[in-house]
Amino acid sequence: MRFTNFDNIISGISEKKDGPMKSSLDNRLLFFKNEGLDKKIIVSAGLIHGNRVAIIESINKETVINRCDALITNNSKYLLAITVADCLPVYFFDNNKKVVALAHAGWRGIISKIISEVVSSFINDYRSNLSDINVFIGPHIQDCHFEVKKDVADYFKQDYLAINNGKKYINLSLAAKNQLIESGVLSSNISISDECTYCLRDKYFSFRRDNPENLETMIAYLSLK
Ligand SMILES: [Zn+2]
Repeated sequence: MRFTNFDNIISGISEKKDGPMKSSLDNRLLFFKNEGLDKKIIVSAGLIHGNRVAIIESINKETVINRCDALITNNSKYLLAITVADCLPVYFFDNNKKVVALAHAGWRGIISKIISEVVSSFINDYRSNLSDINVFIGPHIQDCHFEVKKDVADYFKQDYLAINNGKKYINLSLAAKNQLIESGVLSSNISISDECTYCLRDKYFSFRRDNPENLETMIAYLSLK
């Protein structure tokens, strides 16, 4: 699915029908070919639920950057990519400086401040103005289904917690949104998908719902045009 929020970027996410994207390089290549993006250099993040942001500049072939959960670049030859299967794909775009970043944020990433780290990289590495940073949070597990035990719930403020029939649920995108606002991003520049990966069984993989033997994921992508 291609998003159309902005004119100067190409962004989207694969769907279940495109096949699992973590395990199969063939699926990825076919998907990006079908999306007309096979001329771009695909740079993926290795993903460790941490907070490191990698600056992508002198890479000449398809690469996976290990030990990072976010990628940032101002070069349109790169297609930034992360795999997700409930975690939040967070798309960042500075339309003035022409910089894009893509982050993978689950509950661990959010509490370790991956979102703030990406904003800091825009400011420190690309001299972005905070008011130029736009953010879109793509499909992810919403608070209808992100049930947690006390150990995880304790990391989050009460504002993000809902209790239903004695079970605890966390609103991860609200926590992410507030981290963006605390970092200085304008609330009016933040938009959030209302799609829940768990609810939409036919459209998306969901780790929580399917608990598969081999991880099945979508791939989120972002590039400057
Ligand atoms: Zn749901």
